Amino acid sequence: MNDYIRKWHDIILNCSFDNTYKMAWAKALVELAVHTDVSIDKNAIVYSFYDVAKLCLKYYWNQTIYFDLIQSPNIRKPPEIITLTKKLIKLYFDKKQSVKPVRFEKVDFHSLGLSTKYEWTVSKIVKTLKQDVCWRFKKLKGKTYEIYDLDLNAGNVIFQSDHVLALKEHSDYLFTFINYRWTQMLEGFNYSPRISRKVRAIDDGEIRRGSLKKFHKYLDLMNENGKRICFYCGHEIAENELSVDHVIPWSYMFSDDLWNLVYCHKGENSGKSNRLPSEEDIARLEQRNRLLLARMNNKSKDYIQLQIAIEKDYVRKFWISFKG
Ligand SMILES: [Zn+2]
Repeated sequence: MNDYIRKWHDIILNCSFDNTYKMAWAKALVELAVHTDVSIDKNAIVYSFYDVAKLCLKYYWNQTIYFDLIQSPNIRKPPEIITLTKKLIKLYFDKKQSVKPVRFEKVDFHSLGLSTKYEWTVSKIVKTLKQDVCWRFKKLKGKTYEIYDLDLNAGNVIFQSDHVLALKEHSDYLFTFINYRWTQMLEGFNYSPRISRKVRAIDDGEIRRGSLKKFHKYLDLMNENGKRICFYCGHEIAENELSVDHVIPWSYMFSDDLWNLVYCHKGENSGKSNRLPSEEDIARLEQRNRLLLARMNNKSKDYIQLQIAIEKDYVRKFWISFKG
């Protein structure tokens, strides 16, 4: 490994942390390097804190809006950048009058009339990066690694061009390694399942929800007199009103499991209302699962998974960890 990349490796692997800022900072710098056209005659390449801050906001926006990942051990006092990100997300939801998650890259703050708020948020992130992150990231066990220079007055991070070239060349490795460490940190303060898949999904572009149609054949086994019944209100569901819902929210589980899926009316979908399932819902879901298992007569993979979920008490265990 190139000496310069070795330094990054050592910092990422061994840095102290009380939140995930350093990982966001590192990832943003590598992402900027990837998009830099390095010509040989240039000896210094300059990135503004403003551009780094925008990328940090992107990572935190996407991790928060989709999965509500906690970024520090103290839940009551979240890191400032997270508080700022959450405020911006809240404003966005208010404008859209919907809590449907959208990737940061697709949000047009200007046309929503939120550009002032957006710029203000980025400037606050710049301030935090300057004060707490940029110089700390270079320090490891009392030693400073000269991986870049800082010009705090001008608001710039300055790199030698061959270093940017090295970051570019090793960017796949660095992104994977940063995500790995970021995931490890998150696992220290999040109890939701599939954290590494969630972190990876953020980078994969489209966070797609698979079609739930394939579960209809099982959920239909719970029909009454050939009619589909809403899990929440108990009334019949017309074809155009039909929705399949994750009782414990998809954003938490990040998985489609028969034991967690029910029919409901479109408007009652948990994703739309951010509903926290009640103990009564949970008890009914457990009962439903036992009945459903009894009605499934083939020993398919889905049957076995449902059987395991019942035996291992997944509904209650995930519900307890979800409500925290
Ligand atoms: Zn209903």
